[in-house]
Amino acid sequence: MSEGNSVAVIGSGLVGCFAALALQRKGYNVSLFDYREDPREKPNNEGNLRSINLVVSARGIEALTELTPDILEPVLQDSCELEGRMIHKMNGSQERQIYGLFGETLQAVDRFKLNNRLLDEITKVDDIKVYFQHKLRKLDLYGEKVIGVFETEDDNIVEYEFDFALGCDGAYSTSRSQLQRYTRMDYAQDYMDCFYVHLSIPPADEKGTPKITPNYLHIWPRTDHMLIAIVNPDGSFTSTFFGPWRLASELNSREKIKSFLMDNFPDAMELMGIENALDAFENNIKGALMCVQCHPYHSPDGKMIILGDAAHSMVPFYGQGMNCGFEDVRILLQLLEKHEFNRVAAFEEYSATRHKDLVAITQLAKDNYYEMSHNVATKLHMFKMKLNWVLGKVLRDGWLPLYTMVSFRAEIPYHKAIAINRRQNLILKFVQTLLVPIIAFGGYKSFVGIYGLVKKISKQ
Ligand code: FAD
Repeated sequence: MSEGNSVAVIGSGLVGCFAALALQRKGYNVSLFDYREDPREKPNNEGNLRSINLVVSARGIEALTELTPDILEPVLQDSCELEGRMIHKMNGSQERQIYGLFGETLQAVDRFKLNNRLLDEITKVDDIKVYFQHKLRKLDLYGEKVIGVFETEDDNIVEYEFDFALGCDGAYSTSRSQLQRYTRMDYAQDYMDCFYVHLSIPPADEKGTPKITPNYLHIWPRTDHMLIAIVNPDGSFTSTFFGPWRLASELNSREKIKSFLMDNFPDAMELMGIENALDAFENNIKGALMCVQCHPYHSPDGKMIILGDAAHSMVPFYGQGMNCGFEDVRILLQLLEKHEFNRVAAFEEYSATRHKDLVAITQLAKDNYYEMSHNVATKLHMFKMKLNWVLGKVLRDGWLPLYTMVSFRAEIPYHKAIAINRRQNLILKFVQTLLVPIIAFGGYKSFVGIYGLVKKISKQ
């Protein structure tokens, strides 16, 4: 180690826990702080739900595999494989859209269990000290060492000294605001006009039989709002409603909520039970979706860096927030090794190279709201998806749909995925332009013929 090796990780959320484990494996002496109580002792039943799940994809798995291979199995235990999307149309019909060209799947996991399992792994390690009920108030970066000032549960103020600090304290990060005082950081924050509220579909019976196919992300797209549902290990589904804030204030009585849900999601209401859905919609917390962009992510003297949502909070529509945060940790540790643990050089290169990827995924996540709530149900989109699919199957690595690159190809940086997709879209436009005269000349029958052919190949 070329510099001092004591590090404070602020925040024991998903990214902070993973970073603490990964740093300890590289020989750092880690102290992990969080203002919460130990969640394993006080289960966090957010919005009265037993379970809130999230999706782990290639970038998250790659980071776990590279840095902490021994915990991959325990932390992903009882995850459920998702093969694709199941679109629930207004007329009640359903349509499967498979994610992976070659059988790739996503893993749905319970977010609280995942966090607790990471904490269990941390507890097994002697040289990671964990301090719950320690709220970061201030980081003093001006001296030789970093001094962290924390408020404890009994309102005491305590101080600890470290060689450097990692800020993983989420979207409303205190460590980020401390870093902003110390370095010339550009910073932007914006709220999407969208709220979310968690609902739930119970299992069909006591044995835990799911009411709908478990291996799909279920989507009820309704243009400017939508409902999604992801299975839990007990056969229930966590369902999330997303819609513009206007709806949150318009739906101001049980009757109005009832007619809105029955008009838009009659089949989903049958699965949930309308009274349960109404209780959840009325009482569960309505969450806001905030995006944060900043740059650089570090202090120039190697004393501090921020990762995860603290550095790049994004909307959840690509299922990448945590996956991207785990990738932050993987890339940072790769750079530390490359620079023989010289933090000044590693942090500098991290901020310089990582920014374009974080800007890219934040934008992709925003764009995917329209894709999920609207596009997935349109005929033109379906045709494009099928064409993409066929080209991907036939040309293999020569043609990769955007979703495949983002979710299943950890080796393709986000900004490159966007560039490749732009190029492919140009080619697709060209192909479409060629198809128009063929269709015009051959009439509707030739369109149906081509569409049928594409559909047939895409099923192989
Ligand atoms: P957080 O999880 O926010 O953790 C921050 C921690 O810091 C907390 O424990 C907090 O208590 C602590 N803290 C905060 N301030 C202080 C302080 N001053 N002192 C001490 N401790 C402090 N991502 C995916 O990859 N896949 C998905 O499918 C997915 N689905 C999502 C669905 C929804 C509805 C939402 C809202 C998000 C979703 N995400 C998903 C995003 C994902 O949840 C976040 O990206 C991820 O939780 C970020 O982890 P983090 O550790 O950076 O921050």
